[in-house]
Amino acid sequence: MAPCSYLTAAPRRTQCTLAGLVDLSTPVTYVKGVGPQRAKHLEAKGLLTAADLLTYAPFRYEDRSNVKPVEQLAPGEMATVLATVRAAHLPRFRRRNLRMLEVVFTDPGGGRLIGKWFHAGHLEKVLEPGLRVALYGKVDFDPYAREMSMLHPEIEVLRGGEDEGDDALHTGRIVPVYEAAGKVNTRAFRMILKTLLDRLPELADALPAHLRRRLKLPDLTTALRELHFPSPGADLRALNAFRSTAQIRLIFEEFFWLETGMALRRGQARLEPGIAFNLTDRARQQVLRMLPFKPTPAQKRVVKEIAADMASPQPMNRMLQGDVGSGKTIVAAQAMVIAVEDGYQAALLAPTEILAAQHYANLRRIFEPLAYRVMPLYGSMTKKEKEFARRALSTGHAQIGVGTHALIEEGVEFFRLGLAIIDEQHRFGVLQRRALQQKGVSPDVLVMTATPIPRTLALTLYGDLDLSVIDELPPGRKPIRTFHRTKAELELVYSFVKREVDAGRQAYIVYPNIDESEALAVKAARKAHEELSRDVFPTLNVGLLHGKLKPAEKDAVMAGFLHNEVQILVATTVIEVGVDVPNATVMVIENAERFGLAQIHQLRGRVGRGGDQSYCILVTERLNDNGRERIRTLVDSTDGFHIANMDLKLRGPGEFLGTKQSGLPQFRIGNLLRDSDLLDLARREALSFVEHPPSAAELEDATRYIREHWQRRYGLALVG
Ligand code: ADP
Ligand code: MG
Repeated sequence: MAPCSYLTAAPRRTQCTLAGLVDLSTPVTYVKGVGPQRAKHLEAKGLLTAADLLTYAPFRYEDRSNVKPVEQLAPGEMATVLATVRAAHLPRFRRRNLRMLEVVFTDPGGGRLIGKWFHAGHLEKVLEPGLRVALYGKVDFDPYAREMSMLHPEIEVLRGGEDEGDDALHTGRIVPVYEAAGKVNTRAFRMILKTLLDRLPELADALPAHLRRRLKLPDLTTALRELHFPSPGADLRALNAFRSTAQIRLIFEEFFWLETGMALRRGQARLEPGIAFNLTDRARQQVLRMLPFKPTPAQKRVVKEIAADMASPQPMNRMLQGDVGSGKTIVAAQAMVIAVEDGYQAALLAPTEILAAQHYANLRRIFEPLAYRVMPLYGSMTKKEKEFARRALSTGHAQIGVGTHALIEEGVEFFRLGLAIIDEQHRFGVLQRRALQQKGVSPDVLVMTATPIPRTLALTLYGDLDLSVIDELPPGRKPIRTFHRTKAELELVYSFVKREVDAGRQAYIVYPNIDESEALAVKAARKAHEELSRDVFPTLNVGLLHGKLKPAEKDAVMAGFLHNEVQILVATTVIEVGVDVPNATVMVIENAERFGLAQIHQLRGRVGRGGDQSYCILVTERLNDNGRERIRTLVDSTDGFHIANMDLKLRGPGEFLGTKQSGLPQFRIGNLLRDSDLLDLARREALSFVEHPPSAAELEDATRYIREHWQRRYGLALVG
């Protein structure tokens, strides 16, 4: 029998019946202690089944095993005291902004303890005399008042009603603390889970037994019990670091199935028949004729990796990662030569028209010596132009297509597409990758990204891709110097810009999108453009570029900037990706506090593309501590990987990727930042499990398990 999923059970659908007691797929309403009222709150939090409850991990644990009467407390120790509220004092002293609430508690032994809270007006109403509570915190002794006290103790009201279990559940042990779900508080969770676990028979354990043994992981049932109610003597510090063996097992398992699915998906893709491109001498010569400069060692290495993939009969699925300006375009062009020289077509998909147009111009220039025909296809082209482009691609007249999503629309056909390249992969989803792929018969796929996605994220997002990394910049680049200035210093910034322009260089001044919307940014950019061209730089040509311009207007502005007819370009983030004007040496970023780190790094990459010293000036208005740290990271580092890691730490994975189409799997217990070591381990184990399974039957079980549960489990689309 396939192992039953404890994690993914959809309500009332799996086979697992547990001796009529409770079933993993039992809707929460039928779990003892829940009822319709609580069920509503739980469901709102996405907790639909008994299985969902079992994986609702406590976010913290408290050691309440040290329960003591006040009389026996020693100053400095952490302890739990069971006591009754006597009086909630009015604040004894009142300084401005400093309201301290003092509450007097007594315990059955006659001991007296003062609880102190700053800014806790709400507690005053809750803590009525006569109320029984558990206080947990560090014991203080005030020698002047001769009183025992606790500053900001954790407090839990002991109603002791049948509904929430008895005191023994909430004190006298290491207790789990849960995030409340609406009105279902931590005590209610404790009670519900206790009841649930008490009625839970041994569960089938899907995690391969040899792994469990080798990694010394507890079985599933034990792990779940220990997750919620750690045994006496359990290591509190490990628990709070999510490193108890029970937590490790559950986190590992979550990552393991994800990575096994990825490995299977990758293995499947390898089985599809692909194109085995001929690496002919002629192709090599053509590459040499085309190359405008000497490739860096890193570029040579990744071209080799790509060429090997292309020559093999399996379809290539490779990601090319390289910091801004590392020279990915020429690598892509070399791959295109291999395809074209073997009689195939190549396509390049870009996220914005500006970038696509630039790729088009670049590739046309690069391929001029080879006389390849490059065809652009954008949404904004006229019907007639599009028709022309479509015909050129479907007849094979053009060997190379470059475009935006217009390239993957229905009705666009290729004569013989052999290589599909996607630039700035993080802006596209898996589905678009698929759509482009389907324009050919198993073409090779290369996705490129300049967002140096931290390893942990890359593994979970693109675990089905092989990775090539360009880890050095072309020679002769001077590191960009980055400065932080406040809005009050803008005049100085502008006079610096003026000096650079007078020396023959060009500058960008960029305004952020506000609340994800470009509309307000456009407004700010328009206004700034007006003032800058009229008052600040009356003798210069100041251009304006934003997403609301018509394509022809955009082209005109970009052309003007490229030819140095426009010296200063005021823009929104539409210039973020790919714009390449080597004579631009200054990047001024207004309201830099509103940008993500990775985004600023991308913007900064628009300068420093020639041999001249370039500058990035981050102008901020108001900064909190987090903001200050983010700006400092950028001033101190130009290493895209370091910056991306910091960004991920400071903002979290969802924000880092942009929540909308990130395709990031949803984890229950695992946390990409905290658990990257376990993710690495899970990936290694998953790969070796798929490549050398202990038995065919086990691999089959695992495959079935994943097929049944992957999607609901991780919220990922299983394409193919
Ligand atoms: P990105 O990786 O950001 O797409 P590009 O491909 O746009 O980078 O390259 C950035 C700039 O560096 C371009 O102007 C390109 O012509 C130049 N370049 C790339 N590789 C080299 C090299 N090996 N030597 C000199 N210049 C290079
Ligand atoms: Mg690029």
